[in-house]
Amino acid sequence: MRALILSDIHSNIDALEAVLAAAPVHDVVWNLGDVVGYGAAPNAVIDCVRDLAVVHVRGNHDRGCSGLLHAEEFNPMALAAVRWTQKELSSENMQWLRKVPRGPVHTTGKATLCVHGSPLHEDQYVQAQPEARAAIAATKEPLIFFGHTHVQGGFAVNPDGDGFTLTPRYASPNAIDFYELKLRQGARYMLNPGSVGQPRDRDWRAAFALYDSVAQSVIFGRVPYMVQAAQIRILRAGLPESLATRLRIGR
Ligand code: ZN
Repeated sequence: MRALILSDIHSNIDALEAVLAAAPVHDVVWNLGDVVGYGAAPNAVIDCVRDLAVVHVRGNHDRGCSGLLHAEEFNPMALAAVRWTQKELSSENMQWLRKVPRGPVHTTGKATLCVHGSPLHEDQYVQAQPEARAAIAATKEPLIFFGHTHVQGGFAVNPDGDGFTLTPRYASPNAIDFYELKLRQGARYMLNPGSVGQPRDRDWRAAFALYDSVAQSVIFGRVPYMVQAAQIRILRAGLPESLATRLRIGR
C-alpha cells in the first residue's frame, strides 16, 4: 500500500495541483489537516481533497475557519485569513469542514497514526526531540505522521533508545526532487510530510511524502509550483500582503 500524505495545504490550489501532478504512484491519500487558512482558494482545495483523501484529520485553521475554535487567539494575519475564509466558503464546504475528525486517526492496518499536531494534543507543535519522544512513548504505533509545524522531516527513536532528527536533503533548491528514508525494523518514527501550501523550512517548493508499507520506506518530495499565481490570488482577495510574500521564501 502506498499512501500519499498531504498536510497544511492552506487554501493553496496551485501548490496542491502541482503536488498531485508530481506525486509518485499511490493507492490512497491521507490529509493531516489545515486544508484552509492563509491562502485564497479554500473552496477549490476542499472540492479537490474531500473525496480524494480516505483519511482526514482536522487542523487548528480548519477549526478556526469553521467556528469550532475562537480564532481571536490567532495572530492578526491568520485571523484576517480566517475571517475572509469564513465569508468565502460555500455552505457545503463549511459543513464538511466542521465534521473533519479530531486526531489521532488510525489508518488501515492500525500500524500508523495520523495527527495534526501530536497524538498528545491536536494543537501541539512538535519541533524538537523531547516532544517527539514524549509522543512516541505515549503511543503503540511505530509510525506517526504529523503536520502543523510546516517543516518537512521528523524524528526517530532507534531500538536501543537513541533518538535523532531527520531532515531530507535535496540536490537542487528549485527542481522537483525526492529523498528516500528506509524505515528500520524496531525503530519508532514521527514524520512530517511538510506543508503543501505554506512551507516554513526555507524551501518554497510544495512538500509532501509517500509512505510505502511494503517497501517500508517514506519518500519525501518537493515540487516547484506557480507561486506567483498563488500570490496574485492572495493579493486580489485583499488578504495581508505578507501571506503572499512569505510563499516565495518558504517561511
Ligand atoms: Zn498549518
